[in-house]
Parts: sequence; C-alpha cells; structure tokens
Amino acid sequence: MIIQSHRVLLSGPDIGSLEEEYLLAALRSGWVAPVGPDLDLFEREIAGRVGVPHAVAVSSGTAALHLALLGIGAGPGDVVVVPTLTFAATANAVVYTGARPVFVDCYPATGNIDVELLAGLLAALHRDGVPVRAVLTVDLYGLCADYERILPLCDQYGVPVVEDAAEALGAVHRGRPAGSFGRAAVLSFNGNKIMTTSGGGMLLTADGGLASRARYLAGQARQPVEHYEHVEIGYNYRLSNLLAALGRAQLCRLDEMIERRRAVRDGYAQVFAGVDGVRLLGGEDFSGNCWLTSVVVDPERAGWRAGDLAAHLRAREVETRPIFKPMHLQPVFARARTSLSGAAEHLYENGLVLPSGSALDENQVRRVLGDVMEFLDGRR
Ligand SMILES: *Cc1c(COP(=O)(O)O)cnc(C)c1O
Repeated sequence: MIIQSHRVLLSGPDIGSLEEEYLLAALRSGWVAPVGPDLDLFEREIAGRVGVPHAVAVSSGTAALHLALLGIGAGPGDVVVVPTLTFAATANAVVYTGARPVFVDCYPATGNIDVELLAGLLAALHRDGVPVRAVLTVDLYGLCADYERILPLCDQYGVPVVEDAAEALGAVHRGRPAGSFGRAAVLSFNGNKIMTTSGGGMLLTADGGLASRARYLAGQARQPVEHYEHVEIGYNYRLSNLLAALGRAQLCRLDEMIERRRAVRDGYAQVFAGVDGVRLLGGEDFSGNCWLTSVVVDPERAGWRAGDLAAHLRAREVETRPIFKPMHLQPVFARARTSLSGAAEHLYENGLVLPSGSALDENQVRRVLGDVMEFLDGRR
C-alpha cells in the first residue's frame, strides 16, 4: 500500500496488518453500524487502559467535549475557563453549549495552563459573580497539565475540571494516566493523533450518570421505548462499530507507537542539545506520550528564527507546523475575556512542531535529523 510520497509528514496514521485484520473481521461480522461488539469492547478496553469506570465512544473528540460540557450542565450564561494555547475544538465545544470561553495563558516551559494565572482568574471571576461552570484543561502535545495543583484549586471554588486529553492518551502524570483527571475527560482518535480510528473520540468518567446521559444524547436522545419518543434534542454522535474495530487494533499497538515517538523525540533532543537558544517544548520531561515534539527558538541567542528552520525543511519536503495560534488571537474569539502573560503568543511566534509520527521509518527519521543538522551547521 503506497500512500506516502517522498514528503515526510508531521504525524501521519500508523496502520498495518493488525488493523486490516480487525477491520475486515468487523466488516464480515455484519455489525456495520454505530452499534456492535467491537464498539462495546473498544469502550471497555479504553476504560481499562485509562483506569476509569465509564467510556462512551463517539464520532470525534469534539463531540466528546460537547457531551462532557453538557454533562456538567454548561449552557447560556455560563463561563468555561479554557487555556488559550490549544486547538480550536476545545473552545468551540464551549460555544456549542451556549456558554462562553474565558482564556488563560500557559507556562512557557510546557505550553500547559498557567496555574498561578488560573488562580488569579478564578478569584476575579468569583469576585465579579461570574458563574464558572468548568475549567477545561488541555494536555498539550501529550504532556499532562499540572493536576496536582489544578484539582485542589478548582475544588476550592467548587468548579469541576474537564480534561481535554485529546492529544494525551498513554501519558502519565505522577503515576496517573491522562484521561483519568477531573469529572470527565476526552480522547480523540483523529487521523493525526497518537492512535486513530480515522475519526473518533471517547468520553471518560467515573460518574455513571454523566456517562449514561452522554450515551443517550449521542444516540439522538431516543427514549427507551419501542416507538420513536423524544423529550429533548439529541445528537448523532455515536462511533461506528467498524471504526471501533480499527481502534481496538491500534490500542494493541499503543505502547509500541508511543515508544517509537519517544525515540523520535530523543533524536531531536540529541541534535538540539547544546544548541544555544533552542529548547524542546516540555524539556526533558518524557512522562507524556511524545505525541508531537516542538522546538522553541530564542532568535537573539540562536541567531535564527523558527521560520528559517521551517523554510529549510519545507524545501526538503519535510512538513512542520507552527505551535497553535492562541485562541485569544483568533478573530472568532477576539472579544472573549482573557488572563494573559504573553507566553502562548511567544510560543506561537517562536515554536515549530517537527515530524513526530510513529509511522516514520528509520530512513525518514535519519533524513529529518540530517536536514536539521545541515541547517544548524550552516548557522554556526
Ligand atoms: C484533536 C483535538 C481535539 C478534537 O478532536 P477531534 O477528534 O479532531 O474532534 C480537541 N482538542 C484538542 C486539544 C485536540 O488536539
């Protein structure tokens, strides 16, 4: 199967014969619907892996975020605190419920939510009488936010935490798996994530009521009666049984895929070690799942900009991306309330996400590292 050109992708899907086998078996089983044994097993296996009692498989991480926020009662008039450095889906899901996002800045070292700023913001919102329905944290690029401090802080205000672990399946924070923090957590299985169902997501929670409400809303809010009875507006958010089968195969390979990404990150760490003015986002912390590895460049000290490296790699058909453009800089969220330090904007302007996928073979990794070394040699 030839789907790769000469171009090195940032984070392409990592699919092989096990996935083919599981998918074909599901197809032949006749369960070609958003219901079936692979769906049930996929939920059970992910719940087991993360160590949470309930898992609801849905059609995307965004749908899971929407359901999690509905599950904690977010709606018009509410505010949900969201890190500004994230993918738009995190903030969009807040808006779907009718609530408004308030954006908070990040730590320069990790890009994860700045807990001191969050503390100040919660105090200010409390003082102003603003109803804060949730703090929606993000485990950026597969490294967990600082839950040891976030959870007790939010507890003080009686505000539930929802964990957007879309990027972080397989990461561990002080012995606890990503996806196990807060009232509910969300995973994504989009094509570029650590493991994929081509498109899909999962809601995780210890709250049985929240899980069954999410399951009900995801299935068009059908009442449990023979005829079609509806007392609420529902959604068509369930995952296909075929895609769940694909997910089950990927889950078998999750640890192997994380190891592969870790090795890629390690390669970058070695190439950039001792290069003045360059650091890896997240530094030497390898407790994440190493979903994406990025460098942050101080142009004064390095003598070059992140964009220069991007151009060098682009010319060699190596894909890179800027770190997320912060939500408070997006025209669509221009009027949102914020608590900022400038850290997210700095990372956006000076960061570069490098090819990090587990599907990269040895030759591709060697090629990219060689291209980076060539660039660095040219700047010395
Ligand atoms: C990918 C992603 C999502 C959305 O997941 P989809 O499955 O693509 O809908 C949400 N939040 C973050 C942080 C993500 O990276």
